[in-house]
Amino acid sequence: MSENNLKWRLGDMQITLVREILSETDPAQMFHKSYNADDVAKHESWLKPHFLNDNGLFHLSIHAFVLESEGQTIMVDTCLGNRVIPGYDRISNIGDGFLTALADAGYEPADIDTVVCTHLHFDHVGWNTVLKDGEWVPTFPQARYLFGRQEYEFWAGAEEKGFAFTFGDAVQPVVDAGLADLVDSDHQVTGEVWLEPTPGHTPGHASVRLSSGGEEGVITGDMAHHPIQFAEPQWGMDADEDPQMATQTRRDFAKKYGDTDVTVFGTHFGGPTCGHIRSAGESWEFRAEAVAG
Ligand SMILES: [Zn+2]
Repeated sequence: MSENNLKWRLGDMQITLVREILSETDPAQMFHKSYNADDVAKHESWLKPHFLNDNGLFHLSIHAFVLESEGQTIMVDTCLGNRVIPGYDRISNIGDGFLTALADAGYEPADIDTVVCTHLHFDHVGWNTVLKDGEWVPTFPQARYLFGRQEYEFWAGAEEKGFAFTFGDAVQPVVDAGLADLVDSDHQVTGEVWLEPTPGHTPGHASVRLSSGGEEGVITGDMAHHPIQFAEPQWGMDADEDPQMATQTRRDFAKKYGDTDVTVFGTHFGGPTCGHIRSAGESWEFRAEAVAG
């Protein structure tokens, strides 16, 4: 375990966060189309300190979740990888700190049985592959990689790859190596882990539902990047392919999981990463909570 790991237990499942990057970002830039300073002020009391700092910056994490479920070791999303990210110098060629954090958590790449990508944007597929002798090859040689069929077909057929611009070196080589399974957006991974369609951010986007020993959880993927979006679902990002659908999905998600025992694990949330959506007047707030680990 290191500062780039967090661990929880959910029923019989073990959940481990493996972090690649934790940064602070200006919400006015991150959500530049929908940012509203009044919204931030309105929610400051529950956003601070985990999701908003004293300088008005949001915390943004890039991490994977490793799930131990029914004898399977499952990685959900694979971060950036060690590669050039065009237009993003700060996160290009960042080295293999992610694999170190994975090792600190007790896993070697060969331990991973299943990789799940919630969608195929560049910060969710990066460590699918590594560059070896000038060729991009699968990082997790023993794994089946699960890509949403609708998601894969959309980006494979898209002339403009948008934020899936690493499709050619982080997705297609896995398919070419015969390690990919194209699955439905509600695919059952184990008896305790299944996909739940949450489209809008991308057409085939899926969240990951967890249920074990009477305890319930859900991994957001990018249906939300920051907890303020549960309270203000109209806050979207440029990366939302269908802004209207993304907003509706956030609204539906908060309604479905708000005031329930379902622990929400945020794919880009900082701080304790997980918590519960709770009603607050006409709106929602996100109460960060550690799960007994
Ligand atoms: Zn993302």
